[in-house]
Amino acid sequence: MPRGDGTGPPGGGGPGTGRGGGRGRMSGTKAGAGPGGDCVCPSCGTSATHQAGLPCYQIECPKCGTTMVRK
Ligand SMILES: [Zn+2]
Repeated sequence: MPRGDGTGPPGGGGPGTGRGGGRGRMSGTKAGAGPGGDCVCPSCGTSATHQAGLPCYQIECPKCGTTMVRK
């Protein structure tokens, strides 16, 4: 039996066994329909800043008088 004639390099796990990762960076949080925001006129498209405590449908468009809706 010859000595030093191993079967392949000892150990294992050389380069190439890296674990993936670093994927899925969710940056850019967009505030959807939360408190605040904008109201928009469905008729002419005029947008107005939503007033807290005042629903958009209680606001009239300053241009055409149509009731605003939530953007
Ligand atoms: Zn309008």
